Amino acid sequence: MAWAPIRKSTPSDRLRPNMADYALERARFSWVDARRALDGLPGGRGLNIAHEAVDRHAAGPRAAHVVLRCLGRRNASREITYGELAEATSRFANLLDTLEVGVGDRVFVLMARTAELYVAALGTLKHRSVLCPLFSAFGPEPIRQRLELGSARVLVTTPTLYRRKVAGLRDGLPGLRHVLVAGAGAAPEGTIELESALAAEPDHYEIGPTSPEDMALVHFTSGTTGTPKGAVHVHEAVVSHHATGRLALDLHPEDVFWCTADPGWVTGTSYGIISPLTHGVTSVVDEGDFDAERWYGVLERERVSVWYTAPTALRMLMAAGTDMARAHDLSALRFVASVGEPLNPEVVLWGQEALGLPIHDNWWQTETGGIMIANYASMDIRPGSMGRPLPGIDATVLRRDERGKPCIGADGAALEAQDGEEGELALRPGWPSMFRNYLDQEDRYGACFAGGWYLSGDLARRDAEGYFWFVGRGDDVIKSAGHLIGPFEVESALMEHPAVAEAGVIGKPDPISGEVVKAFVTLRPGVDATDELRLELIGFARRRLGAAVAPREIAFDQHLPHTESGKIMRRLLKARELGLPEGDISTLQEPR
Ligand code: ATP
Ligand code: MG
Repeated sequence: MAWAPIRKSTPSDRLRPNMADYALERARFSWVDARRALDGLPGGRGLNIAHEAVDRHAAGPRAAHVVLRCLGRRNASREITYGELAEATSRFANLLDTLEVGVGDRVFVLMARTAELYVAALGTLKHRSVLCPLFSAFGPEPIRQRLELGSARVLVTTPTLYRRKVAGLRDGLPGLRHVLVAGAGAAPEGTIELESALAAEPDHYEIGPTSPEDMALVHFTSGTTGTPKGAVHVHEAVVSHHATGRLALDLHPEDVFWCTADPGWVTGTSYGIISPLTHGVTSVVDEGDFDAERWYGVLERERVSVWYTAPTALRMLMAAGTDMARAHDLSALRFVASVGEPLNPEVVLWGQEALGLPIHDNWWQTETGGIMIANYASMDIRPGSMGRPLPGIDATVLRRDERGKPCIGADGAALEAQDGEEGELALRPGWPSMFRNYLDQEDRYGACFAGGWYLSGDLARRDAEGYFWFVGRGDDVIKSAGHLIGPFEVESALMEHPAVAEAGVIGKPDPISGEVVKAFVTLRPGVDATDELRLELIGFARRRLGAAVAPREIAFDQHLPHTESGKIMRRLLKARELGLPEGDISTLQEPR
């Protein structure tokens, strides 16, 4: 089904978007200019993320501006200014010096979304150690694997998480020299209590010379398709974080910004910590988990103006009903964006109905470090499309051979697909937040490039106007009776049915067709899972997609497996369906 585009205009009573005209900005954009929008370290000593995010604001008129509004699980709120954050992060950097932690050493954080997490993350970057964020929901084994792979030197966590998950691992991790704990409870044996250690340190720290190529972050991928990879990022990434915050999220200095992602997922670091702070905005940090009422309450009470969230959360809000949204005053909200999974058109339009604003989908990966393709404040939205490449980003769709590899021409260049043709989404390397390696997996890194392009592993189409449409992950695409079927197309059609809240689609081996389409469907609250409904959904999908693409089988499942970052794990649905080993499930979200 074709969805009408959502036309954009700039009402005179609204803030003017940073990017008034996409084509114009694309034509004049350069990364050299984007770098000039940042200060660099005083005395030409290089480029450091923490300086751009914190110290440069603290040294100027924004010192007293609130940088973090931290909401506790029970809604207690704590405000911190740029000046205060500069001091606290300086204390943290000084503490790392006192502990003789070296430049380039790895500092892991394993804690809920609290102020201490921000202090540790930005203090680590100031010190020029390498930040490695983990989800606090991880169990001991995923934690151990990552601490080992990342050669952890320091871990910052809470007394409770330490006791429950880390204490038992300590003997096997001789390289882990220091564990700092913050939060309720006494510091367990073998750990250092963070608050008093920070109090003993000076609140000023001069950031040492930082090359833009110095390693800053190691981020583990979501583990949606297999074992997570540790993507290495450098300080220069901040140029992308700042530019994309301006162009794709339309951040203005007076915004109250809320990124709902946890820093254990790259979105929660690039856009939960770094990008908004480089713009000097106030960032809302919510320790609590998803709850529809709670989230609307946060949007209303905090007067959030720019909101960055994920499709699964939006689908849950949609399932909770439009009335719940309308019962809240969301008049401060100006721009809503989403990332992480395909965003079905239904949700884009629901946004307009329930929030008064469409949802702006954008696409990127842990590897790209920042937003690559987006729908913008000033550009018409084609619901279901990820939008167009950021200024400064050259994206294309590459033709694939029978083995699914990009076709390479005689001149060594990869062959690009025609408009409308499906192929692998690829990017021309060279933007600042591009990952520089996978930790300890040089070969795997090398395999990401061919014919002059970075290969994303995702399949997409580009239309004649340059909008990109997600088809599916290369690994998830279904081959049925000669057709190539992207799970998103089928899931999206099912989610148009009023009974369906979410769907995950896989290919199930079949002796005749190769694979047949099977859908796992989560129903909206109050809907009964009956055989009649199953048949109705199959008929509904057939009318929309045709018999060759519509699911042959539907199973009802109120608990689709998601990663900690909220993505449906289709490979797990498939493994369970076929009775195969589940593979790496370290990032599987535990039911809360
Ligand atoms: P792993 O690489 O370990 O399998 P992952 O790819 O899910 O995990 P991330 O880097 O967090 O890890 O996610 C990036 C992927 O998420 C993209 O490659 C794409 O498949 C999906 N994605 C992100 N944004 C979108 C979007 N707007 N539409 C569709 N898919 C998206
Ligand atoms: Mg990936």
